[in-house]
Amino acid sequence: TASILITFTSHNAALFGAALFVATGAYFTYFLDYRWLAFHLAFATTFVIALTVLGLTNGDYSTTSVIARTDVVLCAVIFIPATIQFTWRQLLARATGSKVDALTGLLNRRGLWDMSERIWSVASANRADIAVAVVDIDKFKAVNDTFGHEVGDAVIIRTGTRLQAHVNGFGYAARTGGEEFTVVMIGTPYGLRKRIATLPKAVVNASDDPLATVSVGAATLPFIPHQEEFDYNEFSRAIVAADHLMYDAKSAGGNTANTAPMAVPRRRAH
Ligand code: GH3
Ligand code: MG
Ligand code: MG
Repeated sequence: TASILITFTSHNAALFGAALFVATGAYFTYFLDYRWLAFHLAFATTFVIALTVLGLTNGDYSTTSVIARTDVVLCAVIFIPATIQFTWRQLLARATGSKVDALTGLLNRRGLWDMSERIWSVASANRADIAVAVVDIDKFKAVNDTFGHEVGDAVIIRTGTRLQAHVNGFGYAARTGGEEFTVVMIGTPYGLRKRIATLPKAVVNASDDPLATVSVGAATLPFIPHQEEFDYNEFSRAIVAADHLMYDAKSAGGNTANTAPMAVPRRRAH
């Protein structure tokens, strides 16, 4: 752009041509990092100012007219790519920081950790137990192979939606793998046991086509007073335990739930 503009005999015409730097600026914004954009902006600004100086010394146009053109061109050349860069970075940050699974609209793994911290404090305040359940669709590969990926996706969405409906008001379901979900809920020991035991039935309906059952493994964390702070390690252990219990349920033929309390108390009493 610069080398073509240099060949212009009229510096004022070249000054307007410098608006083409907006296009190269956009290229820098999308395909190169912000340091290159800064370099580009510095180069374009210097070039425009040099043309202005030449235009002023030339004397073909009035000083006001040259300065006005410089103003307009500089605004476009700097402001447009800088704004695009800013918006682009914001969108990128939001996309990578997302806490929602795109397919099901449920929480994703990152969202689950955030929510678990909140559920933990609600459980503490209500002296409630917590249950962590890992839910995996049985023989899901066969659904994909027989009916295609789109039907497979629909089964994942259907299962996720029903899981969330089953625990609404008591907890949250998150999609933590391809055809795997993690459910965190609070309640009394009896209430949690009942809600876990009914999970496999809650995600199937006799009229479903194709029918897809799930295997559930759940670890319960009993309430222990004076431990309001979220225990990351204990929570991670509960997820691992639930995963093992889920595999036991699957080995037993699937379409069933397997529950056990955590061996180590969730919270140590003071
Ligand atoms: P098991 O009963 O032991 O759980 O067997 P499975 O077939 O359910 O489990 P496996 O891990 O063998 O296969 C899971 C399949 O899920 C493989 C993968 O292609 C599929 N899958 C993962 N994510 C998606 C997705 O987003 N959409 C669809 N349609 N399929 C997916
Ligand atoms: Mg599976
Ligand atoms: Mg799986």
